[in-house]
Amino acid sequence: MSHVASVVLPAPATKNEEEHSNHRGGRKAYHQCGAVITELKKPAGRLTDPGTPAKHVSVNIKQAQIELFAYCKAYFACHSEDSVIAFAAAGPFWKWASVSRGDVPGWSDQLDAKELRIKQERFDAKFGKKRRLFVLGTEKSDVELTKIREACISMVSKKDHTPKVPILE
Ligand SMILES: [Zn+2]
Repeated sequence: MSHVASVVLPAPATKNEEEHSNHRGGRKAYHQCGAVITELKKPAGRLTDPGTPAKHVSVNIKQAQIELFAYCKAYFACHSEDSVIAFAAAGPFWKWASVSRGDVPGWSDQLDAKELRIKQERFDAKFGKKRRLFVLGTEKSDVELTKIREACISMVSKKDHTPKVPILE
């Protein structure tokens, strides 16, 4: 999920400018950043053995967390923000964590296998206890999604987060 700030493009004076403007919906984005990084996996299949869906969900959520670990590492290499929200889901089941720059290796860090495993385990622990899953459409899930929304608003509302609106000529 991105935070985008845009401004209306000036009225086009030429055919080229008109095409440029139309292609961009009449707006120019002057700021873009990632507020939430998601990895959405499938839920347990309908034909999964009764009694094992929870295991499949757990495996898929864990895989989503492994991929989010890599995405967050790349995110901090590309953005100046010091935190981002990571959202791991398997069908309607989901978890989230607020991830700080220090929670993942730096882009050029050379960690050995043990250091990497420890870092991944600490990252996984940020998503809460093993069985702490939210289910979309439930009251608890809605409360948690509201927390994510508020964390996003807090992040993008910080002083100087969004540059001043550029003046286009
Ligand atoms: Zn932003």
